[in-house]
Amino acid sequence: MRDSYLPYGRQLIDQLDVQAVIDVLKSDYLTTGPSISKFEEALAEYVGAKYAVSFSSGTAALHGACFAAGINEGDEVITSPMTFAASSNCILYQNGKPIFADIDNKTYNISPREIEKNITSRTKAIIPVDFTGQPADLDAIKDIATKHNLVVIEDAAHALGAKYKGQFVGSISDMTMFSFHPVKHITSGEGGAITTNNKEYYDKLIQFRSHGITREIAQNRLEPWYYEMQFLGYNYRMTDIQAALGYSQLEKLDVFIQLRKKYVEIYNKELKNINEISIPIEMNEVDSSWHLYIIRLNLSKLSSSRRKIYTELQKLNIGVNVHYIPVYWHPYYQQLGYKKGICPIAEQVYEEFITLPLFPAMTEKDVYDVIDAVKVTITKFSRR
Ligand SMILES: *Cc1c(COP(=O)(O)O)cnc(C)c1O
Repeated sequence: MRDSYLPYGRQLIDQLDVQAVIDVLKSDYLTTGPSISKFEEALAEYVGAKYAVSFSSGTAALHGACFAAGINEGDEVITSPMTFAASSNCILYQNGKPIFADIDNKTYNISPREIEKNITSRTKAIIPVDFTGQPADLDAIKDIATKHNLVVIEDAAHALGAKYKGQFVGSISDMTMFSFHPVKHITSGEGGAITTNNKEYYDKLIQFRSHGITREIAQNRLEPWYYEMQFLGYNYRMTDIQAALGYSQLEKLDVFIQLRKKYVEIYNKELKNINEISIPIEMNEVDSSWHLYIIRLNLSKLSSSRRKIYTELQKLNIGVNVHYIPVYWHPYYQQLGYKKGICPIAEQVYEEFITLPLFPAMTEKDVYDVIDAVKVTITKFSRR
């Protein structure tokens, strides 16, 4: 057994990151300075989008996207139940109504067929989630959106650097959200962004993250100090300190992803022949950026519950996790009237999921520690 606890994910910070932050601290701008546009331009270029707008978190970015998409009281927005609550909370912030469409049993991404089934005259947008880093079925989703005149806001918190049919995530949907929380591909401490090719969305997002205030009309007026607040926005700005860290991290993204892929290959090779579990399936048309590595327990071949296996792995110092409790199972959503049972596949796979540690700061030795612990635990509880 390992002597130290291995978390399921964490940041990788080097001396260049530290220096980038120190440089900003010694500069003129801690916020609304040049590091912001430098990071935004680099991010937009990386994913091949025209614009990127940074936010104080991925959640704030999703809120901005729902505002820009025009989500209002009573509007329905279809999303996945197999995600972090923020993917759906952003709809509630705009007084919209989240509608949960069940997921595909192989990719665990939202099923286009289930989206279609849930469309009504009040549907305004779709928020697919690129679960674990595997892009959702974006062409099918785009077709549905075009047919019903819906906006697609892609939650790509897991999928920075992923590709769908050869194209980078971030340049495909109407708006795409990234998160820079420390467990994600790159970090700015807290932070997020929307990328888009649409100038109208871009302008709205910029104004939304800064109180709804604009200075654009100042040129036509006599008062040179003039600015005006045109709608109720927020202070959702990222600081220059965060943006400098984000930029420095972005330069290492490709290396980070290579390491993730290398560890995934080892996991796949070592775990694929264990009958009591299934390893993740990567579809042919995608190139996942592997935020999470989730194994699925075949409970009929095991003599113990998922909880027992989870606890056993934790005792062995392996920081396994579970992603995610279906969003509408949370007490807040239950109070809103969502019933258990509406997305049976999401509910079933949730009971079988265990997330194994995966992050670039781990070593190959760490990967083999996880594999050994999984093998020992599965053997112990196998029905064979
Ligand atoms: C991390 C995450 C978010 C929210 O991002 P924050 O930056 O933590 O606010 C939203 N959706 C998914 C799927 C995430 O994993």
